[in-house]
Amino acid sequence: MMFRCCECGHLFEEGEQAVTYETHGFYQPPYEEIHSCPVCGGDFEEVHQCKECGDWHTEDELYGGWCETCLRETINYDTFFEYCE
Ligand SMILES: [Zn+2]
Ligand SMILES: [Zn+2]
Repeated sequence: MMFRCCECGHLFEEGEQAVTYETHGFYQPPYEEIHSCPVCGGDFEEVHQCKECGDWHTEDELYGGWCETCLRETINYDTFFEYCE
């Protein structure tokens, strides 16, 4: 699983994220785990690789595993959406 930082665009694998603990004022665990970008500490989102160009995109940006750019370049965009329906 790969993630991309929403703030700085840093790409990293699961396990590389920075983990901090929010204690909410308690002195004993369980504390809430906060996961953030290892570079800037920002929020991040899950990304997937485009089947064609290998770029990383969020689920919303991919269409059947293809990014919009590749869809436009490799197959007819309109036909593709008809095919999906
Ligand atoms: Zn970042
Ligand atoms: Zn692509």
